[in-house]
Amino acid sequence: MSKAISKSPWVVHFNCNSCNGCDIEFLACLTPTYDVERFGVLHVGNPKHADVLVVTGSVNLRNRHVLKNVYDQMPDPKVVVAMGICPATGGIFADCYNVVGGVGSVIPVDVHVPGCPPRPEAMIDGIIEAVGILEKKRAGLAVDPPLLPVKTVKGPAPAPAPQEASEKN
Ligand code: SF4
Repeated sequence: MSKAISKSPWVVHFNCNSCNGCDIEFLACLTPTYDVERFGVLHVGNPKHADVLVVTGSVNLRNRHVLKNVYDQMPDPKVVVAMGICPATGGIFADCYNVVGGVGSVIPVDVHVPGCPPRPEAMIDGIIEAVGILEKKRAGLAVDPPLLPVKTVKGPAPAPAPQEASEKN
């Protein structure tokens, strides 16, 4: 977390379909206790001014168009951070009739921060990781795809370990 940031990242936050748990924790990052602004992070309301899109909650049939619209308004290069298990897989809302899944089903995700909700420290780590990816994109360098959190509240079951699979055969 001590890595220097060459330019202040401006962050816009979009609540897709969250229970508000992740949003409360993210807002805590902006308070003097966690003070994410010490890294130059500025929370903005207009996607046209933002470099980083923070998404909370799962994606449903109604908000997927809004999410895509917010993403499209951001200037390139940009980075998307999925905060919590809901934007990764749909989380506890994955089986709802109107939920289409995680954020990755609509826009590309660069960083997944696991948790339900993630702690503010984990969220700040995710933002710092996003800034590193943003700098790579600005330099025209390749970026690795993000790792989906292995443990999910609901959603796709992880593949069996090789030993378990061979025992079943
Ligand atoms: S990950 Fe947990 S806390 Fe965050 S929006 Fe989903 S249910 Fe709520």
